[in-house]
Amino acid sequence: MRLSLASVEPPAPCARCRQRVAGVKWGDLCPDCQAELRRRARPLARIISLLAALLVIGYAWLRIPLGPVSRIWVAAIAIATMFLVRKIVTQIAMEIMRKPSGGTP
Ligand SMILES: [Zn+2]
Repeated sequence: MRLSLASVEPPAPCARCRQRVAGVKWGDLCPDCQAELRRRARPLARIISLLAALLVIGYAWLRIPLGPVSRIWVAAIAIATMFLVRKIVTQIAMEIMRKPSGGTP
């Protein structure tokens, strides 16, 4: 019994290092490149997410009368903002850095 062509397609090359790894689709990155980009994106994402959290806290400090309950809410929102912004910035930075023209090959 023969398999259909669609199910036996060979692994596509990584979009960055041209290495053929099983499970990588066309235009995707291999796990190695993905881990490397994530590592390079992390410091930037940390700085920007920290700034975003400080902005939230600063805004609350200046604009909202802070009681004991609202302090907890502000802290929770600042932490949520930090995680969300970190995730978004990491993704954007990875998208920018994965382009061959964006960095050294
Ligand atoms: Zn790769």
